[in-house]
Amino acid sequence: MSLPAPSARAFVPFVSVANMMALIHHVGLEQMLGELADYIEADFRRWPQFDKTPRVASHSTEGVIELMPTSDGEHYAFKYVNGHPKNTAEGLQTVTAFGLFSDVATGYPMLLSEMTVLTAMRTAATSAMVARHLAPRDARVMAMIGNGAQSEFQCLAFKAICGVDTVRMFDIDPQATAKAMKNLQGHGLTLIACDSAQDACEGAQIITTCTADKQLATILTDNMVGAGQHINAIGGDCPGKTELHPDILLRSDIFVEFPPQTRVEGEIQQLPADHPVTELWQVILGDKPGRTSDRQITLFDSVGFAVEDFSALRYVRDKLEATDLFDRLDLLADPDDPRDLFGMLARATPD
Ligand code: NAD
Repeated sequence: MSLPAPSARAFVPFVSVANMMALIHHVGLEQMLGELADYIEADFRRWPQFDKTPRVASHSTEGVIELMPTSDGEHYAFKYVNGHPKNTAEGLQTVTAFGLFSDVATGYPMLLSEMTVLTAMRTAATSAMVARHLAPRDARVMAMIGNGAQSEFQCLAFKAICGVDTVRMFDIDPQATAKAMKNLQGHGLTLIACDSAQDACEGAQIITTCTADKQLATILTDNMVGAGQHINAIGGDCPGKTELHPDILLRSDIFVEFPPQTRVEGEIQQLPADHPVTELWQVILGDKPGRTSDRQITLFDSVGFAVEDFSALRYVRDKLEATDLFDRLDLLADPDDPRDLFGMLARATPD
């Protein structure tokens, strides 16, 4: 089955969760993480071409529902995503998502896709791509704090893209750590279960925090972070939801995706609005310095930005060519005469 030509879009390719998983196994999980990182980095390199806006967030006491749109002028994409930390207690995901990729010239959708699994892949690929620019070059040991849905993806992205070979794991729920360690068996990582976040940070050159709690939490305190470490802070991604003690932020050089969004949602919501941060796309282009010394603490204050989802959908759309890993979705009305929408409806009247 081939994708529809731009002139004949009678159906929209739809990638279900089952087909996304099949695509990942078809490409190979670590291979796909690496390829996604390259797509995301390529789009960061052309950052000024994108329409950028902080995501549109609808907050409730339980969580948040967000729309994340962007366009490079040729294509447009948006993701619908939620964040509900209490969901896991009810057997539901904290984060679920789907997304759309479309053609700017016609406005027609070119791809509708599940993005729950894809978000875990793109978040991990982004983290590791950023660490490729900021973490110590010889980093081999990572602390993984928060061993929930995102965690295995993070570990494998850092292995595939940065050469991490050892992960020190901690979660307040030992069952989460046991789950992640079981899932990661056979993937070539040395895994160490730790008793506390502090224990996990011992000897790690990279610290990933990926916890979910709708509060100003303190997953890392200042004494846990030493000179030269790179922090990949994933879980603080909403107003009132952070993971790091502010003292850590004051000792770190902070790198962000899109400042207007991160100032509201990231760890830096705890700092004055004029606290200096560096935009990652400028580091990737070589216009601004990244890591400049062995003793510097670098912090990726990750919140997840629309361009990363655009890149992920662009990648999936390219990869779908020459596969049958999609369904044909009857999403677009397609009357023979574009002005005869009513006639199409009338002719569809049951006998
Ligand atoms: P999850 O609910 O599946 O896992 C979170 C884990 O954190 C759980 O196992 C929980 O026990 C653990 N935890 C909670 N408090 C802790 C603490 N104090 N110390 C150690 N562990 C603790 O959630 P998930 O899907 O893995 O997402 C994790 C976080 O990442 C969420 O906050 C989510 O919003 C965020 N996220 C960010 C991005 C991004 O681009 N930055 C993308 C996806 C998800």
